[in-house]
Amino acid sequence: MADPRGFLKVRERELPPNRPVEVRLRDWKDVHAHLEEGQPFLKEQAGRCMDCGIPFCHNGCPLGNLIPEWNDLVWRGQWSDAIDRLHATNNFPEFTGRICPAPCESSCVLGINQPPVTIKNVEVSIIDEAFARGLVTPQVPQRLTGHTVAVVGSGPAGLAAAQQLTRAGHTVAVYERDDEIGGLLRYGVPDFKLEKIHIERRLEQMRAEGTRFRPGVEVGKDVTWVQLQARYDAIVLATGATVPRRLDVPGLELEGVHVAMDYLHQANALVAGKDVADPISAEGKHVVIIGGGDTGSDCLGTALRQGAASVTTLAIGKRPPGERPESQPWPTDPVLYEVSSSHEEGGERAYLASTVAFLGDDTGHVRALRLATTEYLPDGRRVPTPGTERDIPADLVLVAMGFTGPETEQVTQQIGVDVTRRGALARDEGFATNVPGVFVAGDAGRGQSLVVWAIAEGRAAAAAVDAYLSGTTELPAPVSASTVALRP
Ligand SMILES: Cc1cc2nc3c(=O)[nH]c(=O)nc-3n(C[C@H](O)[C@H](O)[C@H](O)COP(=O)(O)OP(=O)(O)OC[C@H]3O[C@@H](n4cnc5c(N)ncnc54)[C@H](O)[C@@H]3O)c2cc1C
Ligand code: SF4
Repeated sequence: MADPRGFLKVRERELPPNRPVEVRLRDWKDVHAHLEEGQPFLKEQAGRCMDCGIPFCHNGCPLGNLIPEWNDLVWRGQWSDAIDRLHATNNFPEFTGRICPAPCESSCVLGINQPPVTIKNVEVSIIDEAFARGLVTPQVPQRLTGHTVAVVGSGPAGLAAAQQLTRAGHTVAVYERDDEIGGLLRYGVPDFKLEKIHIERRLEQMRAEGTRFRPGVEVGKDVTWVQLQARYDAIVLATGATVPRRLDVPGLELEGVHVAMDYLHQANALVAGKDVADPISAEGKHVVIIGGGDTGSDCLGTALRQGAASVTTLAIGKRPPGERPESQPWPTDPVLYEVSSSHEEGGERAYLASTVAFLGDDTGHVRALRLATTEYLPDGRRVPTPGTERDIPADLVLVAMGFTGPETEQVTQQIGVDVTRRGALARDEGFATNVPGVFVAGDAGRGQSLVVWAIAEGRAAAAAVDAYLSGTTELPAPVSASTVALRP
């Protein structure tokens, strides 16, 4: 155990500060301040961990991260052991340590009557320190099995599966239709949340271990699923849940109304210095974002950095409570009113706002949104209340209402992979589809979720593939495909 009296001596959480809003809005760098002197409070914070007999933090984390162990090792300053324990359960703590909503902290026992341990900050500090000390080195397999695996999709699920399978000795190639590897980490999440250097550093390690990358190849078009099946002994489908949920109201076809991911993809490409023809820009515009989740918040921070005249985020539902309500007691992961770094930076937030129509000008460009107050019907449906309509100005509308599931047409037509009633790629508890040798991991199978779930599923699917190819496996499987999502 770290410090037996740590949680009594230090009762408050301390985290590295965010950079001042007026400074960070001028660039795309991480919103968190880089502290030259390190984090003097880190040891104290890690020392607040009580090394619980039943560490509920484990329960909150689908990866099964060994949280009390690394809190103790950080408190003792044993960085090499700390990164070993962290990497034992998580291939990419540099991603989760930055952008995970940290369900582990919601279930930390200290959270019953004190602010929980700063688990996520301890995690990211371990991996940053490990990179700085040269402790993250390639783990090249001792022998090759002779088996080949194609991983399709290079988001966190595909990358985790690829790294596990490469280390198990299989020859792995990752196919990605985008021009760069990384999935939503590359072209969804903006740099101010996750600078792309973190992806590059990890890819360097993976290349050195032997994983091969094939960006710019869309499986199903550039190479068919049948060809892939003929070329490889197994396939992992990690293609994400990329079909956006659309808003079916009049005026959707107007210019200036865009799906959020089209906007974020371009914005991320511009920040990376790529050429984008006629990019969607928020500069000088009244921006309205429909949808109050992660994607909407990322659109907000992006629009503010591009110099929007105003940004309004609309949520159809009620404003969530600021503190745990009785209906969501510890150790559940509660749905609370969140203030992300983007919300700190500006913009208005409106709740109970149902979009009724987009209104256009003479040139076919959007000029306003017609809203009505949401009414909850007894059967739970949310509908616009008649007579409450009002218009708000908008020259750029970003629809950030989430995703309905994966694109399935080609994989079903070409090799007959089954799809569930809800539109996801169907798999059994062991991540296997109905087609022998074809497995599914991440959002493509579970629907829109979180990075931590994608990594957990990638690791578990790798274990299933390894067992399929080798007859047995020593790879860990932290979750089964039937595990219920913490946040559906
Ligand atoms: C804007 C945004 C912000 C988010 N922020 C957070 C956050 O802060 N924290 C968090 O935990 N989660 C966040 N999420 C969710 C998280 O990013 C996803 O749950 C996670 O990336 C899913 O990983 P994945 O590997 O399953 O799929 P993805 O990351 O979606 O990767 C799938 C990849 O497959 C590729 N692909 C698809 N079809 C083919 C094909 N036929 N051939 C070749 N390649 C193909 C796609 O181009 C894509 O790159 C966010 C999501 C979005 C959209
Ligand atoms: S629940 Fe909190 S206090 Fe208990 S072991 Fe986990 S991190 Fe430490």
